[in-house]
Amino acid sequence: MSQFIFVSFRSEARNLDSNNFKVLRSLTFVRNDKTGIFGLFTRMSNMMDMDMVDMDMDEKFILLALEEAELAFSEDEVPVGAVITRGEEILAKSHNRLVSMNDPSAHAEILAIRRAAEKIGNYRLTGTSLYVTLEPCIMCAGAIIQARVERVVFGAADPKMGGIVSLYNILNDKRLNHNVAVRGGVRKEACAEIMSRFFRQKRIVSTASLP
Ligand SMILES: [Zn+2]
Repeated sequence: MSQFIFVSFRSEARNLDSNNFKVLRSLTFVRNDKTGIFGLFTRMSNMMDMDMVDMDMDEKFILLALEEAELAFSEDEVPVGAVITRGEEILAKSHNRLVSMNDPSAHAEILAIRRAAEKIGNYRLTGTSLYVTLEPCIMCAGAIIQARVERVVFGAADPKMGGIVSLYNILNDKRLNHNVAVRGGVRKEACAEIMSRFFRQKRIVSTASLP
């Protein structure tokens, strides 16, 4: 028989354009069955602390994906980077290599999925999270579902090609037999900045080469 009854409330602020949300406040009411005394704890369950830890981990891995994006930039590839983790273990890191591999499917996510699957010796990436600097396209969303990735965290949205929130909602299409938890907008400014820096430089180079 439980002596205490816990009732928790959380208020959340949701950022509509990014699917991003954070816990503003966590309240837990506790009633002692035997004494009938109520207590109110604002951090009783440490839920806020747990959310902070999650947030830190997401940011940490998005920053790692950003380092991969910088590598892509230095290789004159569209700067997108991806990281796949299971728990705190990093299974794979990758970045766009379409140009160098002459392969239109060589997106950061696809290459990371292939590496992670090879590493664990299984074509199913059950229990993994994929972090990517840009919202995955429809091809990558399909591969994410095929691989049974559990969670996707992305930085900037992609209004032109995004298959997760911008154009389609593939990872949460209930007609499919696997759905994926999604969090967007993590470090979105930095993830968008590297893209605009890359295309700005491309424009400068192409203008400079005009006769
Ligand atoms: Zn893609």
